[in-house]
Amino acid sequence: MSYAHRIEDKGQINLKDFDPKSHGSLRREEATEKMARLTEELVELQELLYAANQRSVLVVLQGRDTSGKDGVIRHVFGPLNSQSCEVASFKVPTAKELSHDFLWRIHTETPATGQIKIFNRSHYEDVLVARVHNLVPSEVWQRRYDHINNFERLLADSGTIILKFYLHISREEQEERLRKREQDATKFWKLSVGDWRERERWDAYTAAYEDVLNQCSAPNAPWFVVLADRKWFRDVAIAEAMADALRPHKEDWLRQLEETGKRELAAIEEFRKSGK
Ligand code: AMP
Ligand code: MG
Repeated sequence: MSYAHRIEDKGQINLKDFDPKSHGSLRREEATEKMARLTEELVELQELLYAANQRSVLVVLQGRDTSGKDGVIRHVFGPLNSQSCEVASFKVPTAKELSHDFLWRIHTETPATGQIKIFNRSHYEDVLVARVHNLVPSEVWQRRYDHINNFERLLADSGTIILKFYLHISREEQEERLRKREQDATKFWKLSVGDWRERERWDAYTAAYEDVLNQCSAPNAPWFVVLADRKWFRDVAIAEAMADALRPHKEDWLRQLEETGKRELAAIEEFRKSGK
């Protein structure tokens, strides 16, 4: 059984059916071991992805403030080779970005072949914060689900492996994390009154996230609900989903590398012969 809940069809997901505190049957000690194994596997798969240079990987991280997007980047993706793994963080759009369609700034950040790109927030903010705060009229954000689905289909058709993770935390856990930051001077840089303001719109965000999960999941661009109150469980769930998504390509990539190797070896031999 997988630890992250994969959604790949339009559906009727109800977030209250997911308990953010749950960690299935996994125990913390097991999780440490599992994480070590998965990390090793991911490092290996990343190298093959890079060497074969055929596919790219797009990871979308979404979740409320304190849900752990930064933690996932550090713990799950930190050990990967930074030569082919990059993060793009999407903040409040600039005036220039706002003068284009909402996918303009996103498309330039999509991963090239051989690369893993992690989106820390993404085009989904344009149907989340934009909806909750009425930044655009409802006719505008409502049309965006189709635009997003078409955009992701284009990326998938072009060889991008897409995984989208919604980090699901509980209201109580968020409060605890926000308060903890206020007691730790090394975390002061993360403090934001905006986080408390956003918290007041908890239910509006829940509805907006449910629509995202139900309207923008596809076999080639699935959403995963990740139970995120326990950081150690969250990390294993994401690492496992990543490994599960990349593993099926391993044989292909190896075969391809072997063929490339044989071709080059033949060329080297030819070169040496011709030199005599
Ligand atoms: P943080 O992730 O804490 O650095 O905050 C980034 C902020 O940028 C969040 O409050 C997001 O809601 C906001 N943001 C990101 N994308 C958009 C967008 N497309 N429209 C409006 N706000 C956005
Ligand atoms: Mg924030």
